[in-house]
Amino acid sequence: TVTTSWEVTTTAAIAQLYQPRNAFSHKGSFGHALLVAGSHGKTGAAVLAARACLRSGIGLLTVHVPDSGYTIIQSSVPEAMCITTLQQSDAGKYACIGAGPGMGTEQTAVQLLDSLLQWNADKPLVLDADALNIISTHPEWLSRLPAGSVLTPHPKEFDRLFGPHNNNEYERLEKALAITMQWPLVIVLKGHHTLVASEGKGYFNTTGNAGMATGGSGDVLTGIITSLLSQYKNGLTAARLGVYLHGLAADLSLDLQSEESLLPSDIIRNMGKAFH
Ligand code: AMP
Ligand code: MG
Repeated sequence: TVTTSWEVTTTAAIAQLYQPRNAFSHKGSFGHALLVAGSHGKTGAAVLAARACLRSGIGLLTVHVPDSGYTIIQSSVPEAMCITTLQQSDAGKYACIGAGPGMGTEQTAVQLLDSLLQWNADKPLVLDADALNIISTHPEWLSRLPAGSVLTPHPKEFDRLFGPHNNNEYERLEKALAITMQWPLVIVLKGHHTLVASEGKGYFNTTGNAGMATGGSGDVLTGIITSLLSQYKNGLTAARLGVYLHGLAADLSLDLQSEESLLPSDIIRNMGKAFH
């Protein structure tokens, strides 16, 4: 029997998912997110993810970086708070936690992710990049991920995580769908037509362009989905809406940029237009 299925995400479907703000809302209405990102030489990934998170409607944002990133975050993202240590007593206060962009796979990063999984048992996580690479080397941690968490691998990260035996793109897509029937996770398999998968059902995205094929685009997506998960409280909605808006903002950037000149910062700059 066929247990998996897929559809293409239409603009009409996105319009149904999107919820405009209540005029009486306040910053508490949209949640406080934590982004765990960056390492020496890769603080830019944390800056991009943080700016994207803030441009996607988060109420409050705290960014965790190593000491080397503290001044960089404070001066380049003044809207965000910044911490360099995570206390067990604070780990539960965030509406959602995004982790991975540029965080590295050093022992300190492994320990930090381990602590996050131990101290935060229920709030959904958005895991990308090095957070996924760390889990690839600790596959038993997959069962520690809170239900509704969102994983955003590109094909190489996906293969590291779920086995290298994908002969073609189709097998990888089938496997992503199958995994979401086994685990209560949302898988965002990134590519030209990014697949968002949950409970064996897949949604293909149609926005985005080849200008996004440059370092930092994925870090922006992590920030966007973390922000939307904090607001919408649903991993599948946050992932579908986030992937769509991320690609749309990149498409809208082409009014001034070309696919060659496009930078992830342009995607962030056009989030406003994309929401409109
Ligand atoms: P990463 O590899 O983590 O930096 O993520 C790259 C991001 O850019 C993902 O969201 C991809 O879906 C998107 N992207 C990269 N190349 C393309 C492309 N040719 N068409 C559409 N989206 C793309
Ligand atoms: Mg990436």
